[in-house]
Amino acid sequence: MEQYICNSCGKKHDITPTIWICTCGGVLNVVKDIPKIDVASWNHYPNSLWRYLETMPFQKESKTWEQVTMGEGQTPLIVPDPLESNTYVKVDYMMPTLSFKDRGAAVLITKAKEIGISKVIADSSGNAGTAIAAYAARCNIACDIYLSDETSPKKIAQVKAHGANIKQIHGTREDIAAAAQHAVKEEEVFYASHVYNPYFYEGTKTYAYEIYEELNGAPDTLIIPVGNGTLLLGAYYGFKELFANGLIEKMPKIIAIQAANCAPLVDAFNNGELSAEPVKNKGTLAEGIAIAAPARSPQILEAVRNTNGEFIDIEEDEILSARAKLSEKGFYVEVTSAVNYAGYLKYKKEPEEKIIVPLCGAGIKSK
Ligand SMILES: *Cc1c(COP(=O)(O)O)cnc(C)c1O
Ligand SMILES: [Zn+2]
Repeated sequence: MEQYICNSCGKKHDITPTIWICTCGGVLNVVKDIPKIDVASWNHYPNSLWRYLETMPFQKESKTWEQVTMGEGQTPLIVPDPLESNTYVKVDYMMPTLSFKDRGAAVLITKAKEIGISKVIADSSGNAGTAIAAYAARCNIACDIYLSDETSPKKIAQVKAHGANIKQIHGTREDIAAAAQHAVKEEEVFYASHVYNPYFYEGTKTYAYEIYEELNGAPDTLIIPVGNGTLLLGAYYGFKELFANGLIEKMPKIIAIQAANCAPLVDAFNNGELSAEPVKNKGTLAEGIAIAAPARSPQILEAVRNTNGEFIDIEEDEILSARAKLSEKGFYVEVTSAVNYAGYLKYKKEPEEKIIVPLCGAGIKSK
């Protein structure tokens, strides 16, 4: 039986259908050892993120994923500008629901199916809700998604198409999470949260494994947008596992990007703090990373510090110009995702520095 361990107090908990937070309020991680990576096993699986199944906390014989997968993962790594041949974009909008959230959702919902869950609740600024709704639909799991009434209409339409019940809340992103958590408690159901459920990060860690295979090693630098840090932490854990297995010689440096109008982690990082104080969201075009109080802030700050990384914040006028520049090169991303490229343009790179920029969500998702 797999267990969770609290990130704050270290208490262990059996994994039950309703547990999602420690009694002390701390976030939970899966109890596990660093996996022993058997590279030869990867070719036993179809071309998807399930190549790395044996590094995830599932029974090796587990076949549940076969009924869940929609081919997510193995996204292309492309040089967008031949004049900058060491800069790559990883095109994670080429996913079943058009964002990287499918990495986490596919793995999380596979776990939920394994433990016999019939209903899930999640809250989201859009893309995580879409991904959870799609994979839940695929597994005949009922699904309620809590969203802001200001979420992009196209993301709401996507969630609706998968048959999820949409609960539109008027309030901040934190109000929406609180409403979902209240319902989880009242209804005693599974909280399919991309922030709290640690299986989500077992999915996002495959971002690192794929880059390792595509480059035949590690890059120097990862540019990563951060709201709740689900891609950042997944990438960090993935490269840590590769490093611990001796497959790469150094950890890539993580350059974390936030919108200046909602940047709790930038402040905390620059002030040398171990966790982030909630800020007031002043409003940003980057709806997908407008998180004023990220629940895993200590882990995010630690990851960036451990890799000798840094934070960069992006002004509103830099977002749309970065989106236009990417479009001119052929890549059409949603507005939130342009922040990543804006961060890259602002970052002072070394000659020859090998850098990866994720393209997290497809252009047709936003205005
Ligand atoms: C979710 C998302 C992000 C940020 O991910 P976090 O887990 O909140 O850090 C960035 N870009 C897009 C397009 C997203 O959907
Ligand atoms: Zn605890």
